[in-house]
Parts: sequence; structure tokens; C-alpha cells
Amino acid sequence: MIPFLDLQGLNKSLSAEFQAGLARVLSSGQFILGPEVEAFESEFAAYCQARYCVGVANGLDALHLILRAYDIGPGDEVIVPANTFIATWLAVSYSGARLVPVDVVATTGNIDPAAVEAAITPRTRAIMPVHLYGQTAEMDRLMAIAERHALKVIEDAAQAHGAVHHGRRAGALGHAAGFSFYPGKNLGALGDGGAITTSDPALAERLRMLRNYGAQRKYHNEVQGFNSRLDELQAAFLRVKLARLDEWNASRAHVAERYLARLGDADVVLPTVLPGNVSSWHLFVVRSECRDLLQSRLVEAGVQTGIHYPVPPHLQPAYAELGHAVGSFPVTEMLHRQVLSLPMGPNLSDEQVSRVVAAVSSVHN
Ligand SMILES: *Cc1c(COP(=O)(O)O)cnc(C)c1O
Repeated sequence: MIPFLDLQGLNKSLSAEFQAGLARVLSSGQFILGPEVEAFESEFAAYCQARYCVGVANGLDALHLILRAYDIGPGDEVIVPANTFIATWLAVSYSGARLVPVDVVATTGNIDPAAVEAAITPRTRAIMPVHLYGQTAEMDRLMAIAERHALKVIEDAAQAHGAVHHGRRAGALGHAAGFSFYPGKNLGALGDGGAITTSDPALAERLRMLRNYGAQRKYHNEVQGFNSRLDELQAAFLRVKLARLDEWNASRAHVAERYLARLGDADVVLPTVLPGNVSSWHLFVVRSECRDLLQSRLVEAGVQTGIHYPVPPHLQPAYAELGHAVGSFPVTEMLHRQVLSLPMGPNLSDEQVSRVVAAVSSVHN
């Protein structure tokens, strides 16, 4: 079976370096907010071309804490894409602000800037675009809209470590960005982890308090904060992987190029990368009107695939209270019926890519 992502193989190749990281943390005796987190924060900020990085417990917390740090809450509105993983929505729900979902562009799956503009009201405080599958949202247009209406743009960069938009990295495109280091992401820990990047010093300082019980000094609590910290061990592991991130993203791009070059005649719609964007290729997502048939044929051919995602947030029982009917976001709902993620990863061999291409090409609508 060609695995959807061979995480096991990737981590194995770094085993000795992980052991060295563990040994460093054990001998330091510091497990929370110590030298590894500090070093990772400065390395990751530099990587993202942002001034600050604040490590937190996971990607959802990163997004939620940014909203808190901006004092966005009850009475405010935050515009989000309908087509995303539910964490984007949950971050807004946790803050108490009102979720204002809008539809996406069919070709990229990313938030539609025209729909964003149409959804702005006097209560709108922020836009939270998602760089879905590793391709940045149309940030130039979104930042121009935000500037006209004095809004914050909070990037959900959980799938976009290393992605580029007109020469600038995800994480430095909006006012602040939330990253996830869930194991399967392009930069993944050996457990949960997350981070916020920003170039706003006041925001970074507030986030450092919020993640650590609202305290700048131990036992002196300025605000009612949270416990959401990246731990030393995960930071040590992430430093090992960050050193490989560009090389691994280049390997993903190589896989994507081969898929794009060789699936041109297959009965699928291939992903589109807009001019000025360099995708991190977190996922390689094709579309088919016979998605379920295609997926089961691929299983028979020994190819494991994924669906990102099968049910959009507005149709989940968790968000039944918002009362969005089927058909509320037609582009999003079409994508959810048609998308299929092919195997993708830095260690997918040319031979494996050829087998996936052959299997996909043999299925006809
Ligand atoms: C993974 C992911 C998150 C959440 O990250 P966690 O670390 O699992 O909390 C948020 N948004 C998107 C788009 C994601 O893919």
C-alpha cells in the first residue's frame, strides 16, 4: 500500500537527532518555557520573516489567543471561509465573537475576497483567511480590504509552513498568524504544538502573558490567561525538523510537479496555484465528480488517499445552532463532494508517484 503520508519513515530518519534533543532537555531540567522554546521561537520567526514567534500548545489555541490578544469577543464579528477544518471556526466561537462564514473560490478552495468585502458590517473586527492545502489565500487583496475597513487579518497558516505569496512567507502576510505543529503538518512535532507569528511587539507581549496564566512574572497575573504553552521537548524536536523544512517542501513540490505534468489527461480536476504563490503542498487535492468511486478504485490499486474534508463546518452537528441549510455555501459544498487528496510527502518516491499516476489515470468517469 502506498501510504497517504509516510510519517513513520520521515521521523525514523531523524531518530538520532531527536534523541540528542531529549538528552538536552533532560539535562537542562527545564520542561516548560526554557531555552529550547526560546531558540525555536527565534528560529521560526526568522524562518517566517516575522519579528516575533510565540509558542503555544496547538494550532487552535494559536488562533484563539490571537483573537483574545486583540480583545475580539462578544459583539464583534470575524469573517472566516466556509471551506476549512473546523478549528478555524472553533477559535472564533471560543472568543465569543460572531462567526461570519463566506464562500470560497472554486479553483483554489480559498476565501473569496469579493465575498469578504460583501460581508463586512460595522461590527466586523477581523478576517481569518486559511491558506488551504498550503497555498496562501489572496492576501494582497485581503490586506487592501482590511486596510480600507480598519480590520485585522489573522492568517490560519496551519497548512502553510514555508508557503510564499509574492516573495513573502506565510506568517508574515497578515497582522498575525496561527501555526499548528500537529504531527502530520509540513512542520510537525511528535505530539501537539502550535505557534503565533507577528511583527507587532505589543501583540507578542500580550500573547506571552495569555499563554501563561496571564502572567509576565510568575504569580503576578495581569489578566485571566490560559495555560497554552509549547513544551521544551516538542520545541527541541521542532528545531530538528525546522532545519529540514525547506528541503522537505522542495521534495513535496517535486512530487506535485510530477503529478501536474502527468495527470493532465486523467478524469480529474488538478489543483491550481495562482501567480505569485509558492505552495507548501501540504496536500495535493484533485477533484472528481465520481470521487467516492475514484477513492475505492485507488484502494483496490493499493493507493491510500484522504478527504479534506468530508463535511463542512456549517453542516456539522456542532454548528447546527447557526442554522445554515444545505446549499448555504454552494462552492464549499461542491468541493466537499468532489475533493480527494492523493499521497503527498517529502519521501514519496518517483516510483510511488508513477504508481499513483497510473492508478488515477485508469479510472474513468
Ligand atoms: C490542523 C489545522 C488547525 C488546528 O491545528 P491543531 O494543532 O490541531 O489545533 C487549524 N486550522 C487548519 C486549517 C488546520 O489544518
